[in-house]
Amino acid sequence: MVIKDKVFRKCDHPDCQKEGEYRAPKNRNLDDYYWFCLQHVSEYNKSWDFYKGMSIDEIEAENKLDMTWHEKTWKFGVNLDKLHKQGNLDDPFQIYNDYMKGNNSFFKKHNDTPKLSIKEKEALTLFGLSYPFSKEDLKKKYKVLVKKHHPDLNAGSKEAEEKFKIISASYAILIKKC
Ligand SMILES: [Zn+2]
Repeated sequence: MVIKDKVFRKCDHPDCQKEGEYRAPKNRNLDDYYWFCLQHVSEYNKSWDFYKGMSIDEIEAENKLDMTWHEKTWKFGVNLDKLHKQGNLDDPFQIYNDYMKGNNSFFKKHNDTPKLSIKEKEALTLFGLSYPFSKEDLKKKYKVLVKKHHPDLNAGSKEAEEKFKIISASYAILIKKC
């Protein structure tokens, strides 16, 4: 008679006590694996795939609202930080390291943002941009806003005219920043 010697393997997600039944590669060489429960293997996969096919602009757009990226990916930063402290973090793409050093534009920390004046911040908000941004981004946004608020297209509305002035002034402020 054979007794199955099944060892309970805990899910590698630091906060999870479930069984880690699913394998997920730790690195590109596929020579080492995490073991996750079904929920965390799918979240893990999502978190790595999340930015894979994206341009930096897309990532930053995704990223601009207070690091929502983190929340999208099983609190990526928090858990990676734990793994890192435990010495268990395999970081083949150096993403985490770069993030910690703040030199990866994907994951720019908020305190890397240069000091912007109130006017500059307001202009950024108006344009729906976050720093840093490219001239191209700025021009794109400007076009959209101009189309929407151009006085000629708003039957000479005073409000539209005011808004249009603000947009133009903001554009002039922002163009110096990219
Ligand atoms: Zn789990």
